[in-house]
Amino acid sequence: MLKAAYLHIPFCVQICHYCDFNKIFIHQQPVDEYLKSMKTEMLNTTNRFNNYKMETIFVGGGTPTSLSESQLDTFLRDVNEVLGNQSLKEFTVEANPEQTTNEKIAVLKSNGVNRLSIGVQAFQDSLLKKIGRTHNKEDVYSTVFSAKKAGIHNMSIDLMFGLPGQTMEMFKESVNEALALDVPHISSYSLQIEKKTVFYNLAQKGKLVLPEQELEAAMYEYLIETLDKRGFKQYEISNFAVPGFESKHNLQYWDNNEYFGIGAGAHSYAEGTRRRNAGPLRQYMSLIEENGFPYVEEHLVPLSEKMEEEMFMGLRKHQGVSDKTFFDRYGKSMFDVYKDPIERLIQKGWLERKKDTLMLTKEGIPLGNEVFQEFIGVVLD
Ligand code: SF4
Repeated sequence: MLKAAYLHIPFCVQICHYCDFNKIFIHQQPVDEYLKSMKTEMLNTTNRFNNYKMETIFVGGGTPTSLSESQLDTFLRDVNEVLGNQSLKEFTVEANPEQTTNEKIAVLKSNGVNRLSIGVQAFQDSLLKKIGRTHNKEDVYSTVFSAKKAGIHNMSIDLMFGLPGQTMEMFKESVNEALALDVPHISSYSLQIEKKTVFYNLAQKGKLVLPEQELEAAMYEYLIETLDKRGFKQYEISNFAVPGFESKHNLQYWDNNEYFGIGAGAHSYAEGTRRRNAGPLRQYMSLIEENGFPYVEEHLVPLSEKMEEEMFMGLRKHQGVSDKTFFDRYGKSMFDVYKDPIERLIQKGWLERKKDTLMLTKEGIPLGNEVFQEFIGVVLD
């Protein structure tokens, strides 16, 4: 039974210098038409794949809060009409601090949104400007306070590290500011330089000065230690929560479960097939109009790939991968299928086995990508 849906709002009021998500500057875009296409996609998807009951819905982007109040209201009503039900436990919307007004928070609340994921990134206005963000730290405070006042206490703050010009002191300040806001969830990712971004172009020209790798590693270490002392559990490589406030939606991905992906550029995984939607807005909308579905890529996932994904998605989690779950899904033990890499990684001290569960060690966590590589191509169909 499929239990999660991701919905993509690709509009942004500014384009950040590091961003390679599927997004578009909102000015003069056909926003209402796009939202109508999304409703059609939702309806067609739920008619075609009917073995679902949503427990989590995540609206991301782009910037969902770049929609006007009435657009947001209409869209969320549509989402509730098509996907809502009594079993829905978590309804998250990504919010950018500068656009999350009291009125928009009221719209979110009245439509059942019970979690906000806030794109903060840093608490220094000068650094925010440098990475192309248009909010300042006052906007962050006011978003968090307004959400709490409206009764939304389940919030996550995103922080970035390894940013150009970011010092250890700045990162420490950001972590402590986030903690002072008393939210139960923090996600933190290091800056990745992706193609087709302002930062990529600057880097190509040798004009981007980034913190040394050792400093970046020290920031990550500080994050883990500080959050741990403050009662946050690192339940996934980049995600920390007060127990009980882990992201139920993201856990669906890490548990390698299926999910709907609605909207331009969204990915989905249903009935054993991964699909990718058209990214450009107009292509997405015309495909919906012509065929009812916006797919530009479909891939029936072979058993070997399912098992690989189970390992490298599952190992991202603190609780690791359970052999019982693996056996129930694939009829084999992961300790047989991946005997060699598991032995090798345990010997290196990067993985540990506790009864029937396999997990990253403290030393293995920063080396996650190297660990995951070891599971690729081991089994061939
Ligand atoms: S990081 Fe978020 S707000 Fe910035 S351009 Fe990308 S999607 Fe838009």
